Amino acid sequence: PVKEKEDAKIEGAVQIAIGVKKEVDFSAWYTNVLIKADMLDYYSVSGCYILKPWSYSIWEEIQSWFNVEIKKLGVQNSYFPMFVSAKVLEREKDHIEGFSPEVAWVTRAGQSDLEEPIAIRPTSETAMYPYYAKWIKSHRDLPLKLNQWNSVVRWEFKNPQPFLRTREFLWQEGHTAHLTKAEADTEVLQILDLYRQVYEDLLAVPVIPGIKSEKEKFAGGLYTTTLEGYIPTSGRGIQAATSHCLGQNFSRPEMFNIFVEDPNDSTKKTYVWQNSWGLSTRAIGVMVMVHGDNQGLVLPPRVASIQVVVVPCGITAKTSDEQRAEINDACDELAKTLLKADIRAKADLRDGYTPGWKFNDWEQKGVPIRLEIGPNDLAKQQTLTVRRDTGAKNPVSLNDIGSTINALLTTIQSEMFTRARDAYNSRIKEVTHWDDVVPTLDNKGIAVIPWCEVEACEDDIKERSGRSAEPQDERAPSAGAKSLAIPYEQSRWTPIEPGKTKCPACGKDAKRWTMFGRSY
Ligand code: AMP
Ligand code: ZN
Repeated sequence: PVKEKEDAKIEGAVQIAIGVKKEVDFSAWYTNVLIKADMLDYYSVSGCYILKPWSYSIWEEIQSWFNVEIKKLGVQNSYFPMFVSAKVLEREKDHIEGFSPEVAWVTRAGQSDLEEPIAIRPTSETAMYPYYAKWIKSHRDLPLKLNQWNSVVRWEFKNPQPFLRTREFLWQEGHTAHLTKAEADTEVLQILDLYRQVYEDLLAVPVIPGIKSEKEKFAGGLYTTTLEGYIPTSGRGIQAATSHCLGQNFSRPEMFNIFVEDPNDSTKKTYVWQNSWGLSTRAIGVMVMVHGDNQGLVLPPRVASIQVVVVPCGITAKTSDEQRAEINDACDELAKTLLKADIRAKADLRDGYTPGWKFNDWEQKGVPIRLEIGPNDLAKQQTLTVRRDTGAKNPVSLNDIGSTINALLTTIQSEMFTRARDAYNSRIKEVTHWDDVVPTLDNKGIAVIPWCEVEACEDDIKERSGRSAEPQDERAPSAGAKSLAIPYEQSRWTPIEPGKTKCPACGKDAKRWTMFGRSY
C-alpha cells in the first residue's frame, strides 16, 4: 500500500505540472522537476535511478571538458574491474572502516555460493594500488596519472536523493603517484580548481574551495580538499567534489608497498606520494536545485543539449497553408543558421501542439532561449527572444542573428552564476558567539566561526546545534551542523588573532575560520 501511495503521488505530480512550489515543498518540487524535465526515471531497485538523455547529455558535456583538461596535466584514462577481492579491500584499516558499512558484496553465482565473497568497488584505491606497486619500478615511471570514468556502489542508508545521494553513481576517479610531496600537493589543488571550473563555469553553480576537518576527511587519506556548494532553498551545504592527498599511507610497506629507488641514493627507498580525486553525477542535482524555478528546470547554456528552441507562432485557423509553410520554413532556416554559428538549436515544428503547449514543454526542460517567429516577425525580419532564466522578452533582427544569440547565451550564463553566487554569499555569516550559531542555521545560513579545530568540539557542535529550539515544521532541517570546509580564502573574514580569538563553541584558541552548516 505504501508503494501504491508513492506511485499515485508521483503520477499526480506529473498531471499537475511542477505542482508544488519550490519554496513550499522543496523535496517534492525537486523530484517533480526531474520527472517533468525528462531527466530521470525511478528504478525497481531502491536508491538507483535511470539517467535519461536530457540529464546524461549534461554529464557528457562535463566529461568532454574535463577530459581535455586532465589530459593537459598528463592524466590518461584507463579501466579497472568493478570487483575487488575481500583481501585487497580490507588491507587498509582506516580506509575500510570508513567504507565497510556501505560495501555491497557478491556472494553467489547461479546456485552456488562463492568460496570468497567479492566486493563491488565503493571507490578504487584498493583495486588499483596493487598494480601501481607492480608497474612503478623506477622514478622514471613517475608520475603515474590514471583516471577512470566508471560507476561505484555505496549502499547508503541515509535517504537516497536522485543525483545527490544514490547507491550506484557515475563519477570519474583519478589516481596519481608522485615522487615528492610537493608535486602531489600541487596536483591536488590543480584538480580542485578544475572541479571549481566545472561547477562555476559550466554549471553556473558557485562553490567555496577549502580543506576538510580531520573528522570529515577521506578515510585513510592525509588531507582532503573540497568544494562546498550550497542549496539556498533548504539552507544546506553540499560537498560538491573532493581532491584528496593520500600521502604515503597507501604506499608504505605494510600497505601496498609502492616505492622507487631514491634518485639521489640508490640504497634508499622512496615511497610514492599519492592523490585521488572524484567528481560525481551529484553535480547535476546541485545544478537543478540551485537554478530551477516553479516553471521547472533552468539550464545554464554551456551544458544545455538544446540551447535555443525556435517555435512558430501566430498561426490560427485563418492562416493560409501557404503562410503556415512560410513560417515553418523561416523557423527551420533560423535553426540552421544558428547551428552554423555553433549554437545547439532546434526548430519545434511538431504538428498538433499549440505554441503555448510548446512554450511550457521547453520551459519545463529548461532550454535557455526560446525564439518565436510569427507573421509580423517575418514581415519585419525579426524574432522574439525569450530568456528562460528571467523571462525577459526582446525582439531582435534576423540579421547577424548568430552573434546576437551567442552574446545572449554568454550573458545568461554569467548572470545565472552571479545571481547564484550572490545568494550563496548572502547566507554566509561570520559568527563569533555561540548564541548566534543556531539562529544562523535556522535562517538557512552557514555559520563561519573562528574554530579551534578540535575533533571533540566538532562532535559537540553537531550535538548542540541538533537540538534546535523549535523546528518550524516537521520537514525543517533539524540535524546538527557539521564542519563543511575550512575555506582557503581566510581573508574574507576578520583576521584571527592567535591566542586572543577564541572558538565560540568551546572557548579554546581559534585557528581558522570554518564553515559550519546543516548539509546533505
Ligand atoms: P569521495 O570519494 O567519498 O570523496 O566522493 C567523491 C565525491 O563523490 C564526493 O565529493 C561527492 O560529491 C560524490 N559522492 C559521494 N557519495 C555520493 C553518492 N552516494 N551519490 C552521488 N555522489 C556521491
Ligand atoms: Zn572549539
